[in-house]
Order: sequence, then C-alpha cells, then structure tokens
Amino acid sequence: MRKPVIAIDGYSSTGKSSISKIIAHKLGLVHLDTGALYRGITFFALKNCTSTDGNIDLKNLFQRFKEINLEFKQVGDELVVFLNGRDISHDIRSNEISQQVSLIARQKEVRDFLLEMQRSIADKGGVIMDGRDIGTIILPNADYKFFLTASIEERTNRRFLELQKLGMETESETVRKNLIERDRIDSEREVAPLKKAHDAIKIDNSNLTKKQTIELILSHIS
Ligand code: C5P
Repeated sequence: MRKPVIAIDGYSSTGKSSISKIIAHKLGLVHLDTGALYRGITFFALKNCTSTDGNIDLKNLFQRFKEINLEFKQVGDELVVFLNGRDISHDIRSNEISQQVSLIARQKEVRDFLLEMQRSIADKGGVIMDGRDIGTIILPNADYKFFLTASIEERTNRRFLELQKLGMETESETVRKNLIERDRIDSEREVAPLKKAHDAIKIDNSNLTKKQTIELILSHIS
C-alpha cells in the first residue's frame, strides 16, 4: 500500500518540525524539514556571498547555486542537513541565520532552486514535509494538509527554550521580535507566501501540548 504524503505548514515555532518528526517515526514516513534548506542557503550566502558592507549580495548568491549541494543524510534516526558534505544542522539554528533567512527565502530564484528537490523527495510517497508553502505550492496534492498556529507568547517561549537547549545564548525579546518579523516577511512575500491551503486543517496549539497536537493530527489520518 502506498504510504501517505502529509504537508504541515504554519507560523514559526508552532512545533511543526518536532511534531512532524514524531509522526514520521510513528507512521514509518520520511520527515523533511524544508526550513533547513532555506537556512542552509542562508548559511552558504553569509559565508561566501557578502559584500564589503557585510550584507548578502543576492546576485552573487544566484550565480553560485551550482556550488551548493544540500542533502539530507540519515544520522541515527534523524535526517540531518549537510551542505557540501558538512553537517550544518547546529549552525543553521543561530540568531544570525534566523535574522536573514526570510529575506533569502522570499527570492524567487531561491525558491525555484529548491522546488524540484522537495518535490522529487515526495514522489515515492511516505513523506511528511513541514514548511510554509508545502500544502499550497510544493505538494498541492498531498493526502493530508495541516496548518499550525499558536499565540506569539507561546511560540516565543518554545523557541527560547529550544535555543537554550542548543546552548545558544539569547534574550526572549530578541526571539519574539524575530518570530514576528519572519512571519511578516513570509506572509507578505509575492512568491509562495505563508498561508493556509484552502483544504488544510487548521490547528491552534497555544493550549495544547506537543503530545495532544500529535494525537489531534493522527486522529485525522486514516
Ligand atoms: O521552519 P524554519 O523556521 O526553520 O524556517 C526558516 C525560514 O525559512 C522561514 O521563516 C521562512 O522564511 C523559510 N521557509 C520558507 N518556506 C518553507 C520553509 C521555510 O520560506 N517551506
């Protein structure tokens, strides 16, 4: 039997990735955190494509796509993102990347570059993919679509604790501002904006635990 294709979209820090990872494990699916791809490109750009003022030179980045090899490799029971053979899964969570990533992700060239890779992974079925445009653009025919949202207070708290766990020093207010700003840029961009697919099930998990959110999602999957 063909395994399902599941799209999970939503606002930043609604738990999309960690929830998807657990659901993938339960249902025997591959989990793809597409945010890691946009973060990976941003990481490459900050290392290789900045101009003298320190800003990312987009033209230069677009010309160097052929030097970017992003792949997911199995490490333990997780798919980890590698850039040109290097595990970048920890580095891409930094504040610096979080502050730049939405500016990179709104570029059509960047989205086109990543489109086929994401679609080809879902071709064989058996995948749960989380991001911002999975249900609308990447996998419009997904078997199940969910759209996660939660209050800004709850999301700030979750991201703050996640960064603390990763040993990354930050202030709650910095995290809050970054989430608001990223959601604004992601929702307002012209190409593939963050929005609920018309046929996605919306879940506000402000008052739900991770376990409850997972159970709710699973209750919709037959
Ligand atoms: O999911 P995560 O918070 O790691 O995503 C980082 C950023 O990557 C988002 O704020 C958004 O700008 C971009 N992104 C996107 N489309 C996706 C996944 C992520 O534009 N499918």
